[in-house]
Amino acid sequence: MPRYRARYLDPEGERYGLPTYPWRSAPVGLYTRRQLRAMDMAPGGQPVAAQVMWRRRGDEVVAYLYDLSQARRKRTATPAVLAAIGKALTARRTCSTCCEVRPYFIPRRFGECLDCAEDAGRLARTEAA
Ligand SMILES: [Zn+2]
Repeated sequence: MPRYRARYLDPEGERYGLPTYPWRSAPVGLYTRRQLRAMDMAPGGQPVAAQVMWRRRGDEVVAYLYDLSQARRKRTATPAVLAAIGKALTARRTCSTCCEVRPYFIPRRFGECLDCAEDAGRLARTEAA
């Protein structure tokens, strides 16, 4: 084991006050906040369980680790919230003139779909301007 790795190996936390492991040597089940987020998990208010330390360009870098078994699933949108979002998105695609649901958002400057804006002569005028 290279010297720097030995320096950062302190599983009992005797040297650093917190269980410490060299980079890539953290025990299974401990993850950084970023790794938890990638799994759609969050630390959930638990204390830092351990840390990994390594050197990067001469500086000591620390990343805190959390216990996955104490992490909680990040709040994800409930069906009701998803439905509300879907409704709002549909509303933004609905033309107030012809009431058609378009595959695109109704442009604010027209307040209606491109077909209606074109019929009303607004599209040509805007493009010519
Ligand atoms: Zn329309």
